Amino acid sequence: MPHEPRAGRLARALARAARLSCPRCGGTRLFSSWFTMARSCALCGLVFERAQGYFVGAIYVNYAATVGLVIGGYLILWGLTELSTAAQLALWLPVAVLFPLWFFRYSRSLWLAVEYLLNPEP
Ligand SMILES: [Zn+2]
Repeated sequence: MPHEPRAGRLARALARAARLSCPRCGGTRLFSSWFTMARSCALCGLVFERAQGYFVGAIYVNYAATVGLVIGGYLILWGLTELSTAAQLALWLPVAVLFPLWFFRYSRSLWLAVEYLLNPEP
């Protein structure tokens, strides 16, 4: 859609990423199970993994989100509560382990959506 405003394209891409659906058509799911990603869209044919190692960038997205959550959460609780460092560690260590597993699909979806937004046709 060449005449669509940039903000509209960004909002649509992010909404499709949040729904874990194809960034081009939004009609199919990116994942068939928790960790299994479809090779391409069944409706529009968009190949999701455009090159070998394409989703390495999604690892950085996942890492940045995890670090932001854990460090940000630690600093907020450090400023607002009297929790000890051991209590903070007991709270945030499981988050640091489990959050990336939950966020895995969203990091790939976000990576794909933003890359598709910047480079619509491979
Ligand atoms: Zn599609």
